[in-house]
Amino acid sequence: MRAAVFHAAGSPLSIEQVPDPHPAAGEVLIKVARAGICGSDLQVAKLGAAAPGTIFGHEFAGRILEVGAGCGSQWRTGDAVTALPIRVCGHCEACDEGAHALCPSVVFTGTTLAFSGAYAQYVTAPVAMLQRLPSGVGFDEGAMIEPLAVAFHAVGRAELARGASVLVLGAGPIGAGVALFARHAGARHVVVSEYFPSRRERALMLGATAVLDPGAEDVAARFAAITGHAPKVIFECAGKPGMIQQAVELAGLRGRVVVVGLCLQEDRILPLPGFLKELSISFAQCYHERDFAAVIDAIARGEVAPQPMHTATVGFDELPEVFDSLRGASPHCKVLIDPAR
Ligand SMILES: [Zn+2]
Ligand SMILES: [Zn+2]
Repeated sequence: MRAAVFHAAGSPLSIEQVPDPHPAAGEVLIKVARAGICGSDLQVAKLGAAAPGTIFGHEFAGRILEVGAGCGSQWRTGDAVTALPIRVCGHCEACDEGAHALCPSVVFTGTTLAFSGAYAQYVTAPVAMLQRLPSGVGFDEGAMIEPLAVAFHAVGRAELARGASVLVLGAGPIGAGVALFARHAGARHVVVSEYFPSRRERALMLGATAVLDPGAEDVAARFAAITGHAPKVIFECAGKPGMIQQAVELAGLRGRVVVVGLCLQEDRILPLPGFLKELSISFAQCYHERDFAAVIDAIARGEVAPQPMHTATVGFDELPEVFDSLRGASPHCKVLIDPAR
C-alpha cells in the first residue's frame, strides 16, 4: 500500500510503498477514506519522538475491507466505521470502567512500528474499538470524531451548569471543539481567547458567543465586560507552560479549570489564588467509548455542525509539504488526507 512514512525529525514525510497491514484475531482491516492530521503528530515529528518507519494517523474513517478471525458477526465488509485508535489490556480498572484511554498498557495507533496509523491506504483496528458511522455522518466528519471526542470528554469533565459562563483558552482543533460542545451543553457565554484571527473567526462559526485577542486585550476585563462576571469554567486548550497559572488567576469564585492542552514540559503554578477562590482543577485525557458514540449521535441528529473545522483535504502527493507547513502559523484547522487522491 501507499503510506506516508516518518524517518527523522526535520526530514519530510516520505511517500512509499509499504507492506499491507493484516488484521490479527479480533481486528478488522479498514480501507482509509479520510485521515486527520493532528497537532500531536506534528509535535512527535518535530521532536523525533517516534521510531524511523512510523506511519502516523490516529484520526480516521473508512470502510471495513476484511474482518479478522474471532470478530463475531456484528461487522461486515463495506461497513462505514471509525474507531478509538487504541489497543488496551482489557482487564484493568480503567478498562473495566470503559475508560480505555487511561489503561496503563494503552498503545495508540500510529505511534509505534507495531500498529501503523492511517496516513496510509489501510489501517487495522480492534473490533472492540469500532464505532459505526450512520448515514448522515460522512467520512470527513468520521475522521474528525476522535478530536471531537477529546473536546466532548473535556466538556463532560467540567460538569457545566446550564447557563454557565465559559472561557476557552486557545482555539486549535481541540479548543474549537470545546467551544462547540460547551455551547451544545447549555453554556450561555462561551468566550474564546485566541491569538490567530482565522481561528477566532472559526470559533465563532462553531459556537463561541464571543472571541478576544489575548495579545491585544486584557482577558479578565474583556470577559467581565461581555458576561458581567469572572469565568465559572475555564478550558485550557493551548498546552503551553504558564497557561494553567493564567487559568487559575482568571477563574471566578469556586470556578473550575479543565486542563485539556497537553504540555510536555515542566510547568509551575502558584497555588494561592486557587486556595483563595476554592478552585477545582481537572485534567481531561482523551475519551471513553461513550464519548465517541455521543459525538457521532450529535452529528447524525444535526445537533452540532463541526464542518467548519475541516479546512482542507490533501492527497499523498501534497501531504509532506502541507504537513511541514502546519507547524508554523497556519490558517488551517483540521486538514484531512484522502489516500485515493
Ligand atoms: Zn489527535
Ligand atoms: Zn487496561
